[in-house]
Amino acid sequence: MKLETLAIHAGRHPDAATGAVAPSPILSTTFARDADGEYPHGHLYSRSGNPGRTALETLLAALERGATAAAFASGSAASLAVFQALSPGDHVIAPDDVYHGTRTQLRELLARWGLAHSLVDLTDLDAVRAAITPATRLIWAETPSNPLLKICDIAGLAELARTAGATLVVDSTFATPVIQQPLTLGADLVMHSTTKYLGGHSDVLGGALIARDAGDPLFGRIRDLQTKGGAVPSPFDCWLLQRSIATLPLRVRAQTANAQAVAEFLAGHPAVERVHYPGLPGHAGHALARRQMPGGFGAMLSFQVRGDRATALAAVGRVKIFTRATSLGGIESLIEHRASVEGPYSTTPPNLLRVSVGLEHAEDLIADLGQALAPAADRQG
Ligand SMILES: *Cc1c(COP(=O)(O)O)cnc(C)c1O
Repeated sequence: MKLETLAIHAGRHPDAATGAVAPSPILSTTFARDADGEYPHGHLYSRSGNPGRTALETLLAALERGATAAAFASGSAASLAVFQALSPGDHVIAPDDVYHGTRTQLRELLARWGLAHSLVDLTDLDAVRAAITPATRLIWAETPSNPLLKICDIAGLAELARTAGATLVVDSTFATPVIQQPLTLGADLVMHSTTKYLGGHSDVLGGALIARDAGDPLFGRIRDLQTKGGAVPSPFDCWLLQRSIATLPLRVRAQTANAQAVAEFLAGHPAVERVHYPGLPGHAGHALARRQMPGGFGAMLSFQVRGDRATALAAVGRVKIFTRATSLGGIESLIEHRASVEGPYSTTPPNLLRVSVGLEHAEDLIADLGQALAPAADRQG
């Protein structure tokens, strides 16, 4: 079935008891037993499972062409579950520009617990091969990456992981299943911060892991961490996500078209030094992105203002339609000075602004960036 159809129908049925077409959140934390002690509806206690979470997990697995999914209270809870499913002494390879929260987990939470990691340029398969040790159990990929929108070769990494006996996890938050489907390219697990495009309205925090193989032993431990660790999303959050995902394909395509227009405008602007967007032919990952991202190039981009940190901060101070805020994937366009957000381990250029392109009209977004950059362009002129 096609993605648009799955986004609406996977995991969703009229309610058997009432005929209600639209799902409602079931808030009960506990579920009744039969006279013989069985659980006729399959649910026992809300931490181990509830109807809304089951519906959401069915939907997520279908969208990513996976076998099974586990929903978490945040993307960070999902990534932590992956790392905790490994053992002390294991080694993880992650991108040198990995999402700063994932890097912080590896450095501050997991190094102390005995999990070793190397940060490697994942766009360079030879560098990844060289970083693999006998203890390497996991390759963590993120593509497009944050905030430089680097593209790494999922199929190539899957091959390296298979040879090493390691698991390949792809944080596909920026892409969504509308843009790319890593499990079909050989990845073992896909991770999402559902806070972003899947939620899509900047009003729900969540995370998810989807497995290609339901019998994957690592995923079995992840499921245990989900239900026994308890970092699960609430029934209301699951319901919000199910409701939002119905429009995910439409939203992401429209946001992607807007992002392409904004990227092309910025690429021709005198106050802009460099635009990072895989949809531009000059981007280092453009050819790979064309193959690997059949749904388009996504709606995230970043750009470097000609000048320094102060020039970039002054430009971001002048936007009127864009909101100055962190996060991404919502209906509203956001812009942020990324290095300020990332803190001490940041490797982001100080003149870089990251943009999440929303669903406003592209001409209004372009006009807003144009007026914000005009004083910087005057200085260039
Ligand atoms: C936001 C984000 C995360 C973390 O997710 P939370 O829901 O904020 O915990 C992980 N990876 C990427 C790429 C993200 O953008």
